[in-house]
Amino acid sequence: ATPTALLVGTGRGAQLGILIKGPEVLESTRKIDTVVLDKTGTVTEGRMTLTAVHLAEGEDREEVLRLAGALEHASEHPIAQAIARAAERRTEPESGSLRDQRGFEESATINTASKATVEDFANVEGLGVQGVVDGHAVLVGRPRLLAEWSQHLPEELTEALESEQAAGRTAVAVGWDGRARAVLVVADVIKPTSKEAIQQLRALGLTPMLLTGDNEKVARSVAAEVGIDEVIAEVLPADKVDVVKRLQAEGKSVAMVGDGVNDAAALAQADLGLAMGTGTDAAIEASDLTLVRGDLRVAADAIRLSRRTLATIK
Ligand code: ADP
Ligand code: MG
Repeated sequence: ATPTALLVGTGRGAQLGILIKGPEVLESTRKIDTVVLDKTGTVTEGRMTLTAVHLAEGEDREEVLRLAGALEHASEHPIAQAIARAAERRTEPESGSLRDQRGFEESATINTASKATVEDFANVEGLGVQGVVDGHAVLVGRPRLLAEWSQHLPEELTEALESEQAAGRTAVAVGWDGRARAVLVVADVIKPTSKEAIQQLRALGLTPMLLTGDNEKVARSVAAEVGIDEVIAEVLPADKVDVVKRLQAEGKSVAMVGDGVNDAAALAQADLGLAMGTGTDAAIEASDLTLVRGDLRVAADAIRLSRRTLATIK
């Protein structure tokens, strides 16, 4: 290979908003036939807002939001931020900043927005969060997380959860002190550029696949909207890398596009890892390419540029 041509390729990449880890990366784009796309933060904005609160009988909306919001305040997950923001908006904030109140090192943190005390916060990977808020053992996450603590959703909440998911929204359950109390619904929006990006990837002869930890119905609804046929949903973060390995074992050459900490291992495993520049450092570090502005269309630009650059070398 001619190093000069490769370097020209990487220089052009920078102009397009693509950061390339090294010239040798271009070579690995040659055989790519499959593009695995993370859903949240990659195909969608990853910025969710709370759109509904479904309560079990006898539960209080304010209390649900206060306890769930205080707990989620300590999590970086887009779902958590939506819930925390919604909870903060309905309580009288203290004067001064609500941010930078996350004293993770201390055993207890006072959430100034809700005036709640959070202890023993833990993130349960791919399932949700748990912690003690004002003395209540609170869980927020997938029904599976609550079920692990024998908190089963009453029928009305299961119905609400299923109908929201069928409509393509993400619903999480809230429980404390041994009982499931509510279902919170958050909606994420698909990036305006995603559909066109998928069309461009297809035009390059690549097969797009959607990979997510989220629910199958939500995943299918997003996939349908952007033109993806193949969906791999309800995948735990640690299993994302196995999905990539399995595709490779089937003889596919895989590019993976992701943004989250939970995508890092899969990005490293992929034949070509592409990180959203708007995503986490872990994803960026694990990747070969970074799409600076988080625009998925640039993934197609990157593959097109690599092919063109390689063609001039050959
Ligand atoms: P994705 O692959 O879509 O980025 P994750 O693997 O991060 O999703 O999470 C999978 C699922 O676990 C979420 O859809 C949600 O139901 C639940 N979950 C994870 N973290 C949280 C949290 N902080 N609060 C509530 N639910 C959560
Ligand atoms: Mg993600």
